[in-house]
Amino acid sequence: MRVYPGPLARLIDELSRLPGIGPKSASRLAYHLLNAPPAVAHRLAGAIREARDTIGHCSVCQNLTDQDPCGICQDETRRRDVICVVEEPRDVVAMEKTRSYKGLYHVLLGALSPIEGIGPDKLTIRDLLGRLPNGVGEVILATNPNVEGDATALYLARLIKPLGIKVTRIARGLPVGAYLEYADEMTLNRAMEGRQEMR
Ligand code: ZN
Repeated sequence: MRVYPGPLARLIDELSRLPGIGPKSASRLAYHLLNAPPAVAHRLAGAIREARDTIGHCSVCQNLTDQDPCGICQDETRRRDVICVVEEPRDVVAMEKTRSYKGLYHVLLGALSPIEGIGPDKLTIRDLLGRLPNGVGEVILATNPNVEGDATALYLARLIKPLGIKVTRIARGLPVGAYLEYADEMTLNRAMEGRQEMR
């Protein structure tokens, strides 16, 4: 016996594929969408489609953007001699919320993780190295303060320091094992200001 009509079963199935959504939450969301006026579901569907179709990676910094290069890379008021390296596009958002950093970014799209089979080739390290000859004087490694983030920072420092570029790591103000995106703005600010040169 089919518990749900076909289209409802498919909706629940798709929703339950999303991170953090179990079968119960998925069916609650599905029923909510079906009980609300049609416009609610149509707006959501439209927003998903539009975001998916118009947003891509910046060809310079790999951040998510609807224009290429992205707004940050195009911003003439930003310092071009400092690059802050982060793991994910959402880390750029966290950093921008502090309003104190005025340099450029580079998004690695992940962190080194031998267990998950993520080696240097899976990250945007080659693109980062390609940007360095353009007058970059400091690279700030703002990968997450956990095992993968630290390993990635160490790997990058070994690659970049021999090029005669200053390499710094954000300070340990963040709890160990933490993620940048969950840090509040003050903590992130302190971590940035207290950054130390990697030896
Ligand atoms: Zn960019």
